[in-house]
Amino acid sequence: MAVDLTDLVSALPTGTVVTDPDILGAYRYDRANDPSAGTPLALVRPTNTEQVQTTVRWCAEHAVPIIVRGAGTSLSGGSTAMDGAITLCTEKMTQLRIDVGTRTAVAQPGVLNVDVKAAAAQQNLWYPPDPSSYEICSIGGNVATNAGGLCCVKYGVTVEYVLGLEVVLADGRAVRLGGRQLKDSAGLPLTKLFVGSEGVLGVVTEVTLRLLPAQSTPATVVASFPSVVEATRAVVDITSQMRPAMLEFMDAVAINAVEDMLHMDLDRTAGAMLVAQSDAAGPAVAHEVAIIEESFRAHGATECFSTTDAAEGEAFTAARRAAIPAVERLGPLLLEDVGVPLPQLPDLVAGVAEIAATNDVTISVIAHAGDGNTHPLIVHDPADADEKRRANAAFGQIMDLAIALGGTITGEHGVGRLKKGWLPDQVGPDVMEMTAQIKRALDPQGLLNPGVVL
Ligand SMILES: Cc1cc2nc3c(=O)[nH]c(=O)nc-3n(C[C@H](O)[C@H](O)[C@H](O)COP(=O)(O)OP(=O)(O)OC[C@H]3O[C@@H](n4cnc5c(N)ncnc54)[C@H](O)[C@@H]3O)c2cc1C
Repeated sequence: MAVDLTDLVSALPTGTVVTDPDILGAYRYDRANDPSAGTPLALVRPTNTEQVQTTVRWCAEHAVPIIVRGAGTSLSGGSTAMDGAITLCTEKMTQLRIDVGTRTAVAQPGVLNVDVKAAAAQQNLWYPPDPSSYEICSIGGNVATNAGGLCCVKYGVTVEYVLGLEVVLADGRAVRLGGRQLKDSAGLPLTKLFVGSEGVLGVVTEVTLRLLPAQSTPATVVASFPSVVEATRAVVDITSQMRPAMLEFMDAVAINAVEDMLHMDLDRTAGAMLVAQSDAAGPAVAHEVAIIEESFRAHGATECFSTTDAAEGEAFTAARRAAIPAVERLGPLLLEDVGVPLPQLPDLVAGVAEIAATNDVTISVIAHAGDGNTHPLIVHDPADADEKRRANAAFGQIMDLAIALGGTITGEHGVGRLKKGWLPDQVGPDVMEMTAQIKRALDPQGLLNPGVVL
């Protein structure tokens, strides 16, 4: 039976609830492009916490599921729409204030990461977490996936910066966790429970973020390597000696795809490329650059270039950030996000190459290599049934490999819908049961993001 939306529409400001099929169509998919995406019953775009509460209460009363959506850049299908569910999108919740006294930012969830960074920079402050998608993803989505990024190898991922949250629970209550205080041992650490909870435990309606003093201009070292294994051995060598401010990896397919798109004279003959940065203070920067260069050369770097010029450094960083869209031009992607303890990184990239060969598919590997987090990008044509089957097989085998190497099926994108089949293999039955118990305690009707994580 069709659900009557009249009460919800009249309880919210005009235009908040959208049922126009043309508009709903744009909210079906996220960047994982899951072909099984449904069509929302309605799209709700609240501007404040009370409107989120009204929506969640109405959904609880009518047993209607809710898909929580920020900017829809999920690569694991976390914000994919579902038939018969409300898609609650936070894109109109964009208030942001910087509190210089406490060095914090207080943001509604729809604020883009780039806007937090820009507002902090105006006060000579810095919000470090920098997913490659930082210009297009929301802070709410970053919190819900515990997003990482390029500088996280030194500065840590989103959870290190979340001091406080306001969350609307599945019954419509709004709770405040943590705050602007830097230290807080009161009660169970529930703030952290919601970071990385992928929208299955509550809707984040406000985030208080810790800010750092502005970063000094980093020195950048870029090198080409004959093979992916040599490049990753250099990574292991460097990270055993120091903590770079960035240590990013691209294989030959990614280098060529980026070069095709950006034309910046990258070495098309290289087997792999590393981009490293040091932002150490004073003379320490020269010491760190020397360690990086030495290690690059010791592992067969064919070309090695260093610069302290901010614009040059940013150009190489932008090239790495462009890798996913560049490889996407070769064909639709199945996107992996596996991570391993650093000493196992060479085994992981070698194993991925083997999986590509066995299944006869193109897999391009890019990586936040300094923290062992790789993104094997499986290029395939979903219209070709056999190729799709081989790509899916490779997708699973890569996760099996990461687990076998003591790693994780997802370093930063989250489990979403696409990876939940492999979560039990990584965490085991007891942790799965504990996860289900927490879910049942906070969302007994199972209405928040059904099908995500578990
Ligand atoms: C080109 C490209 C590069 C990327 N690079 C990186 C990278 O380097 N590092 C990285 O970590 N990720 C990366 N991503 C993945 C993605 O951008 C991040 O996961 C991002 O944090 C998602 O933010 P979003 O606003 O788009 O969230 P969405 O896609 O809208 O949602 C993601 C998940 O969070 C939940 N959610 C969203 N908002 C809320 C809220 N307010 N309350 C509760 N739950 C919520 C959703 O239900 C969903 O489960 C990349 C994506 C692309 C397309």
